[in-house]
Amino acid sequence: MSEVRLQVQNLCKTFGITKAVQNVSFNINKGEVHALIGENGSGKSTLTNMLTGIYSIDSGTFILDGKEIHPRNQVEANKEGVSIIVQELGTLDGLTVAENIFLGHEDMFVKFGIKNTNAMNRRATELLHQYGFDKIKASDPIENYNFEDRKLVEIVKATYFNPKIVVIDETTTALSQEGREELYKHMNRIRAEGNTVIFISHDLPEILDKSDTITILRDGVYIDTIKSADVDEDGLKKLMVGREVSGAYYRADYGEKISDEVVLSVKNVTVPGLIKNVNFDLHKGEILGFGGLSESGMHEIGKAIFGASYDREGSVTLADGTQINDIPTAIKHSIAYTSKDRDNESIVMNQSIGDNIVLPSLDDLANSAHLLSDKKLKEFANKFAVEMSVKMVNTDQFVSDLSGGNKQKVVLARWIGKDSDIVVLDSPTRGIDIKVKQDIYQLMDQMRKNGKSIIMISEELMELIGMCDRILIMKDGELNGELDRSPELNENLLISKMV
Ligand code: ADP
Ligand code: MG
Repeated sequence: MSEVRLQVQNLCKTFGITKAVQNVSFNINKGEVHALIGENGSGKSTLTNMLTGIYSIDSGTFILDGKEIHPRNQVEANKEGVSIIVQELGTLDGLTVAENIFLGHEDMFVKFGIKNTNAMNRRATELLHQYGFDKIKASDPIENYNFEDRKLVEIVKATYFNPKIVVIDETTTALSQEGREELYKHMNRIRAEGNTVIFISHDLPEILDKSDTITILRDGVYIDTIKSADVDEDGLKKLMVGREVSGAYYRADYGEKISDEVVLSVKNVTVPGLIKNVNFDLHKGEILGFGGLSESGMHEIGKAIFGASYDREGSVTLADGTQINDIPTAIKHSIAYTSKDRDNESIVMNQSIGDNIVLPSLDDLANSAHLLSDKKLKEFANKFAVEMSVKMVNTDQFVSDLSGGNKQKVVLARWIGKDSDIVVLDSPTRGIDIKVKQDIYQLMDQMRKNGKSIIMISEELMELIGMCDRILIMKDGELNGELDRSPELNENLLISKMV
């Protein structure tokens, strides 16, 4: 019999009219990886944020090793032996790597009222070395590192003190395969030491592979807790959405001819250190995919097309001869772009849903005297938020409050509203659950049928195979192969060109 570590009892949390967590009760054991799954907005982050002191509890209790705990912030949660790697960025700018790791626990390095920075850096360096993250320097400002490396720092921060429970909230989608392997190693170590991991991910094969037990939430309500060995992917999907989901949510058509009309031509594009001499044409009504390892340069392609890489050489030309060299020109000529790094590059977090949607369309919405009517802006924002079925109270709600899938819907609503002809989507379904994924795939298919052209950059090979007319594979910054849409395509064919 496994021993209970955490009892969740009658837990509730509401935000305005949203019942984010409704009377949820279940147990989590010692020495297990306990997955928490559910569609976007089902309450996973709200529950774990309450456990780790980020959110207050409306009602209900957490009992850890037989004792009720009430952490009021993350530092207090750490002292109870509970830590979290949050879904969003969990490190703070303006601090060094070491200061981030020990945030709130600096007293370890204070003697006679003086903080010993050297000792703190030494300890951080030791830990980074122990975790195999030697490329990260303890004394560097955290801003020197990209999202993925900052997540690695968070792994150290959340686990170095051997907590009883570590929550990992959708961290793996931000990591490359290498980073994931690192994380799995630490998950296994925590479990082997008799401690507990609460693991949140949208990647169902990953959930089945890495967890011992799975709890399913739906719309804030507890559905079930089951052993991972007793269920398969389809079973999980069914529990998550409460109905059968057909596996076929990709495009079903094959053999459609791509139009000869070229809408965008990329010639000899080079970004020093990232991509070399890339050439391709994008056709009208085509979904053109880019695949590769995450460092292959494919993510830079999107930026280069959108005029967002600064030292780009070569040309990006539209059918009418317009050269795209900067973002304003790209937007003016109906090019849309959504970044892989949604939270930092695609969305303005501290603005409302409405403000985010109208952003690129402000010129079109202004009257002849260049004035903007509030009413018109509101109607416009509302129309496209509703069209994308963004789960919200109204468009005045801040995007920072939305779940990942709903943020992505806001980003897409913005470009649908702008009626862009060329849409560059970098990792559009990253960290998004199956229902919203399905919506996004359907939207892409509809756009294609309406004659829009789409570039989809993705690390998910199945979605490239399922959605694209053509797939270009990048390797070490260069194009390394082209595959046409076909029912015969499989992941191995793509991988053989990627590595
Ligand atoms: P999940 O992590 O399962 O995707 P969340 O716990 O983030 O879901 O969200 C559950 C519900 O609570 C959603 O409807 C979301 O919009 C809402 N919500 C979450 N955090 C906040 C917040 N800080 N303010 C308002 N609403 C929130
Ligand atoms: Mg969440």
